[in-house]
Amino acid sequence: MERLQKVIARAGISSRRKAEELIKEGRVKVNGKVVTELGVKVSPSDKVEVNEIPLEKEVPVYFLLYKPRGVISSVSDEKGRKVVTDFFPAIKERIFPVGRLDYDTSGLLLLTNDGEFANLLMHPKNEIEKVYVAKVKGLPLRENLKKLEKGIRLEDGKTAPAKVKLLSTDKKKQTSIVEIIIHEGRNRQVRRMFEAIGHEVLKLKRERYGFLTLTGLRAGEARELTTHEVKQIR
Ligand code: URA
Repeated sequence: MERLQKVIARAGISSRRKAEELIKEGRVKVNGKVVTELGVKVSPSDKVEVNEIPLEKEVPVYFLLYKPRGVISSVSDEKGRKVVTDFFPAIKERIFPVGRLDYDTSGLLLLTNDGEFANLLMHPKNEIEKVYVAKVKGLPLRENLKKLEKGIRLEDGKTAPAKVKLLSTDKKKQTSIVEIIIHEGRNRQVRRMFEAIGHEVLKLKRERYGFLTLTGLRAGEARELTTHEVKQIR
């Protein structure tokens, strides 16, 4: 939901101040009704008209970002920290991240202005695989990794079965690299799963989301999804 004057201004009709005047003058309709209050909020499905002319709908856009560590998965931050939309300075569409990666997690993040597409991807019934590579403290025992595979009790319930593969261990540094594939998307899920078996996650990267990978991108780089990729998901 967004303020009406902001929506009008973004559509390129006028400045935000001028949009407020248009509203006060009774020249703006929402879903066929004149609105003269300034506080009104509208969603993308609301039909907004200015001087009887409907606002153009935004064209849907889809991006794949290789999010670096130290970036917030949000469109703004009160503390002024870097956010994922900062990587798209030239995009005028109002894109937002599909789900989130923690501030310290790097890897694949999709951004779009298509709410339906985002809901589709995030709906648990679609069970989209997310592949993470975690560097953890210590050398996990096979039996503990098995617990992650079966599902482990966290404070918000048992996790669904996962695929877990120990990729390497560094006995000297006492760290290990583990690949874990999950299809849920709970808050800090991978970090909490490893904590539950006694291994702090030192580094975390999402390498794959469904069939999408980071191939060809470096941290901080993004590309548009191809129409074929979008169709495969939709
Ligand atoms: N799991 C986490 O713990 N953090 C992420 O950013 C993503 C999945």
